[in-house]
Amino acid sequence: THFGFSRVPLRDKQARVDEVFHKVASRYDLMNDLMSAGLHRVWKDIFAARVKPSRQTRFRHLDVAGGTGDIAFRIAKAGSRRTEITVLDINADMLEVGRQRAAKRRFEAKLDFVEANAEVLPFADNSFDAYTIAFGIRNVPRIDQALAEARRVLKRGGQFLCLEFSNVEMPVLDRLYEVYSFRAIPLLGRLVTGDADSYRYLVESIAGFPDAESFRAKIAAAGLERAAFTRLTGGIVAIHSGWKL
Ligand code: SAM
Repeated sequence: THFGFSRVPLRDKQARVDEVFHKVASRYDLMNDLMSAGLHRVWKDIFAARVKPSRQTRFRHLDVAGGTGDIAFRIAKAGSRRTEITVLDINADMLEVGRQRAAKRRFEAKLDFVEANAEVLPFADNSFDAYTIAFGIRNVPRIDQALAEARRVLKRGGQFLCLEFSNVEMPVLDRLYEVYSFRAIPLLGRLVTGDADSYRYLVESIAGFPDAESFRAKIAAAGLERAAFTRLTGGIVAIHSGWKL
């Protein structure tokens, strides 16, 4: 039943990922609610609360793979006029949904949308106070390169935060989760979007992502310090953090 994304060569991976998000962009938020039974909102709230934008001084935030703006809007709410948020995504369709959603809301914070690749960030060294990436890094073909770029654009004292699917460590939950993801999610995808393959990709990319401890080691290897993680919901997702010191 596997779609075979794990066998896609590295140089073709990005094109496949782009195709998936091009197809799902308009239904992306609805599908997240359905697939996670609304849990993704709770995870994102907890995640975004880890960023503490200073309200007194200028605060530059970069949200990579920011898609439809879910993380940026939460940070904008917590911020002030001195908060500047750049939402970066490789996919113009996802960014367009984010732009439209931003136009409907009114934030004090300033929001910018940039179409670019997490592996080659179009910013100077030491530019940002914080970097977030939520449910994005597992889609990036060269994870080590994306982490190196995160470190490069952060200022000294800047915070790195990543929210990503992780490894379920609880005995019964792990079996349930596997059945749910490999059977129910592609079915849901087919019913709601008419596209089971895109959702099969999502599930496979989750299964292929390193466990929390290995990913923590990658973050540390990229030169981010005090690399640590917190599991949420039995390890379905984890928040990884690090600092440029
Ligand atoms: N952060 C949003 C959220 O939590 O709802 C969106 C997550 S969505 C699952 C993954 C996003 O990663 C997509 O919008 C996709 O276009 C983007 N993406 C994939 N590869 C990328 C890359 N190399 N650089 C930047 N963004 C990328």
